Amino acid sequence: MSKTMAINAGSSSLKWKLYEMPEEETLASGIVERIGLNNSVFTIKYNNGNKYEDVLDINDHEVAVELLLQKLIELKVIENLDEIEGVGHRVVAGGEIFSESALIDDEVIEQIDSIIKLAPLHNLANLTGIKAFKNVLPDITSVAVFDTSFHQTMPAVNFMYSLPYEYYEKYDARKYGAHGTSHQFVSERAAEMLGKPLDELKIITLHLGNGASITAVENGVSIDTSMGFTPLAGVTMGTRTGDIDASLIPYLMEKLDLTDVQDMIDIFNHQSGLKGLSGVSSDMRDLEAAEAEGNERAELALRIFEDRVRNYVGQYIVKMEGVDALVFTAGIGENAPETRANIIKNLEFMGIKLDEEKNNVRGEERVISTDDSTAKILLIPTDEEVMIARDVERLKK
Ligand code: AMP
Repeated sequence: MSKTMAINAGSSSLKWKLYEMPEEETLASGIVERIGLNNSVFTIKYNNGNKYEDVLDINDHEVAVELLLQKLIELKVIENLDEIEGVGHRVVAGGEIFSESALIDDEVIEQIDSIIKLAPLHNLANLTGIKAFKNVLPDITSVAVFDTSFHQTMPAVNFMYSLPYEYYEKYDARKYGAHGTSHQFVSERAAEMLGKPLDELKIITLHLGNGASITAVENGVSIDTSMGFTPLAGVTMGTRTGDIDASLIPYLMEKLDLTDVQDMIDIFNHQSGLKGLSGVSSDMRDLEAAEAEGNERAELALRIFEDRVRNYVGQYIVKMEGVDALVFTAGIGENAPETRANIIKNLEFMGIKLDEEKNNVRGEERVISTDDSTAKILLIPTDEEVMIARDVERLKK
């Protein structure tokens, strides 16, 4: 028995979960927000239902880690630091270097640093988290788990952009995808639920959250995914455009009087998607409420979201020449029955049918297709943190 932490470090936040492994029992979880700003918020959930919260100034990630570990002892979640044997860090971009999770040493840190260009904000923040833990707990197993690794199995025909070939060779310009840990978790779980070997299945995993991506998992490996060079591509998202015509960039920059292309990219990342379309919110719940009150732009935003998701489902069914299971996961996938129904309804002509009653559920693992559906439709809550803890456990041995 040993304790393992799963860490997701953002530029001003540190999200964490502490597990007893190999039982995969959650002992505590929490988040430190507003790191580096005034009034940082420090929250811990522990011992099944207890909550500790504090507001104080936390200058950097290292202070956050020190405070967090100290509190875990004070709250008697652990007796001493020696109990924590491993820590796993989510890292957004692994480029072509990391097709697997990696034990962190100086070389791995340098390699992550060398591909910061693939996810400037994210990888830098992830590295800050890694270094903070290395400084505070230098001797424990430390593992990097990459959002992109699962997609490294994509064939060139699916990961290449139709650009001059040397841009790939010289500048690493290709599709990397994201949410890999989630797509892997739910596809493995789907095979267990279906009682069939994963390497004999054609699965489409729909990770529909604030960020959203769809993946074709054929015989256990990702063969294509909707996100691209960065997580901006693919389907319409909470605040992200998804796929658009690149010619809009110079056109809109001129109209908006922008001179820095980064400002345009910021609009594509933060002001677009469901939020930009509806003018209401990026949050599905707000859009559903607005639609119910007759807000036409909220309704349009929802229909566009469903349409773009469906486009990828159609593509991947053709690509894999069939599908055994479709898996819904993440905030929207797990909790929005109507959206699921609207996405699936165009597949009925293929015999893929949702059971209305079974679909009327939120956040619970279950089969939601009819008994005679030609492909199973599954709802599987994702768990990226447990995948991180499992990788620490695996690499520790
Ligand atoms: P995530 O990024 O996975 O946390 O997912 C966030 C998205 O899930 C947001 O658009 C939320 O509105 C949506 N979501 C969460 N709970 C619900 C719910 N009960 N009904 C509809 N959408 C939900």
